[in-house]
Amino acid sequence: MADVHSPEIRSYNMSKIHGKDTKAEDKVRKYLFSQGFRYRKNDRHLPGKPDIVLPKYHTVIFVNGCFWHKHEGCRYFAWPKTNVDFWYSKINKNVQRDKLTERQLVESDWKVIVVWECELKKDIFFRRMDNLIKEIQDQKNEINEVQA
Ligand SMILES: [Zn+2]
Repeated sequence: MADVHSPEIRSYNMSKIHGKDTKAEDKVRKYLFSQGFRYRKNDRHLPGKPDIVLPKYHTVIFVNGCFWHKHEGCRYFAWPKTNVDFWYSKINKNVQRDKLTERQLVESDWKVIVVWECELKKDIFFRRMDNLIKEIQDQKNEINEVQA
């Protein structure tokens, strides 16, 4: 069992604290593009400005940082030891906003997929991307069945 408070993890958390890290989103976008998917980025007309919007599949993808979005049970999420009240309020606000956003999107018949940053680590990246594409294409099948 890994020590969640090891210096390595702490520096990972700290790197998330400094502004928005766009690298993770770009990794997913590039992969989808290479597989022939076409998308819109940060669509402001949709709740939560989803990182990736696939109109053809009526699917949106959020690429969430494990720290900012409180990935439960993830080794990359741990409450900071200092400024506890500040972080508690900030992170919980993010989580509440995520839930509301997801509900609004689902109510408008969007399929919502969350990709966590920890799922983009080298050793599991391609497996996660395979599954992601299956999740996206499942939605297409569902739409076709409804229309048929
Ligand atoms: Zn995670």
